Amino acid sequence: MIDIKDNLAIIKQQIFQACQQSNRCADDIILLAVSKTKPSNLIEQAYQAGQREFGESYVQEAVDKINALTHLSQLNWHFIGPIQSNKTKLIATHFSWVHSIDRIKIATRLNEHRSAQDTPLNVCLQVNISGELSKSGVTVDELPALVDFIDGCENLTLRGLMAIPEKNAEKTSYIKMFELFDMLKLSHEKFDTLSMGMSNDLVPAIANGSTLVRVGSAIFGQRE
Ligand SMILES: *Cc1c(COP(=O)(O)O)cnc(C)c1O
Repeated sequence: MIDIKDNLAIIKQQIFQACQQSNRCADDIILLAVSKTKPSNLIEQAYQAGQREFGESYVQEAVDKINALTHLSQLNWHFIGPIQSNKTKLIATHFSWVHSIDRIKIATRLNEHRSAQDTPLNVCLQVNISGELSKSGVTVDELPALVDFIDGCENLTLRGLMAIPEKNAEKTSYIKMFELFDMLKLSHEKFDTLSMGMSNDLVPAIANGSTLVRVGSAIFGQRE
């Protein structure tokens, strides 16, 4: 049986070590527990062990778990998966963060569906940093136009960038992401999140400025 509490402690230790190696402070790294495909009782175990930020990739599955766990009052839900436009309403009404915006159409719809009574939706733009191989993410060339567009969306707050560097990616992918992040920070006061790094690439991600790592299997076990 997997012990979620132990796994969280191990990951935090790995984050701490990666920070020491790169002269960073572990308090500056947020751990996002990616619970896609995993049942709500495991999410609740992680919450009881102190975990507060959770990431999901499949809308309907996520909404079911969100509705089942409303009693965990400090839990923050992050949407990190590919976004279809017919799912934007559910995402805008159930999540407090979205990491995977990569086009204006999706931003427009999330902005329309987020109620002005709610706090704005925190958003990161997913950048296709490793080139053609991945289909998700805005290209570096198209990023400035998407940033400008989000700046005009009242119900969205631009918080940062997200990337999934391909397996065995060159270090340059991580460095390029940090450079983009660092540049946009100059003109955006709430821009504080570089969402980069998963179970298998925590170390290069943290060495290159990640502020949020998205960890699934190392916490909850391998997915089916
Ligand atoms: C599934 C997923 C993760 C977690 O991956 P692990 O390898 O299980 O840590 C992180 N980010 C995104 C976007 C994912 O879809």
